[in-house]
Amino acid sequence: MKKLLISAFMLALASLPQLSFAWGADGHQTVGAIAESLLTGTKAGAQVRALLGENTLEKVAVWGDCVKGIAPDKDFAYTSAGRYPECASFETAAGIAAMSDYVKRNDSNCNPAIGEENCHKQYHYADVSLQHDHYKTGYVGTSDHDVVNAIRAAVLVLQGKPQPKPFNFKDKQEALILLTHYVGDLHQPLHVGSVFLNADGKIINPDEGQYDHNSNTVGGNALQCPCGNLHSLWDDLPVQFKRGRMNDGLAKRAKTIAPTGGAIEDLPALWADDAIRDARILFAGTQFSKSTPNQKGNNWSIALPLEYEKTMLNMKEDALARAGAHLAQLLKAVWPE
Ligand SMILES: [Zn+2]
Repeated sequence: MKKLLISAFMLALASLPQLSFAWGADGHQTVGAIAESLLTGTKAGAQVRALLGENTLEKVAVWGDCVKGIAPDKDFAYTSAGRYPECASFETAAGIAAMSDYVKRNDSNCNPAIGEENCHKQYHYADVSLQHDHYKTGYVGTSDHDVVNAIRAAVLVLQGKPQPKPFNFKDKQEALILLTHYVGDLHQPLHVGSVFLNADGKIINPDEGQYDHNSNTVGGNALQCPCGNLHSLWDDLPVQFKRGRMNDGLAKRAKTIAPTGGAIEDLPALWADDAIRDARILFAGTQFSKSTPNQKGNNWSIALPLEYEKTMLNMKEDALARAGAHLAQLLKAVWPE
């Protein structure tokens, strides 16, 4: 069985694009660039420029990931200097001090349980089980500091309102920078939808009965293929997206996306619903092996269905255009004409 799974997977993998950068760089920058182009000539665009000064949404879109280089166990020093080109402009003395200060404020403020990530790292995702049609804070994999609530909090700061606990965003500038990043994350299906598996590789619903931590595939991070893990495969963008090559086309497409109806505070959960739907589509036809335990929890090998690459590519393009449009919609709602 295992052999069969692997050979089927190799077939699918042979045609996959070369992996290199993550959604963390090109994808996030693309989302920032799309929103920027949609905000040209608007009041929101002027407010963004006033808050960012020399910077652009495209450039600051990755800051939320760059701050992960701050190590709380090394006295909040920056440990990834020179490692990520997209973070280079934040690696000045003042820039590093700002990153360190942010992480200090958002490291343990959510009281992470043993084995949980630092709080600011948890702001980037939710792991909602695919049986649910709708996101709801309270489901397994959600929290008051998941990506949906992080977007709500950043919007509140931009509106000049008090932010909910546990978030500690310093000011409007910091909130805008993080909002740009989180809206990108919210549209990556594996940042919101997750599959939960038992030891036999059967899909289960963690919100029914007693929740077993070992069933969590951690947004695809515990699903292994020869390429690494499924989450990284999804974070990555194919070469035609690199360095802004697709921005014009995607911005045109984003312009045609109608604004989502609803109150501003309800929008992040509605977009999370779309991400859960996308995750369900992308898991259809995926085969899971029995689990292999390792020190971090369980791991499963997976075999992806044929045509997976095409499904994934179309979904990524669509998700990036929507993310840019939705970021612009939020900012226009914060600063209406
Ligand atoms: Zn992120």
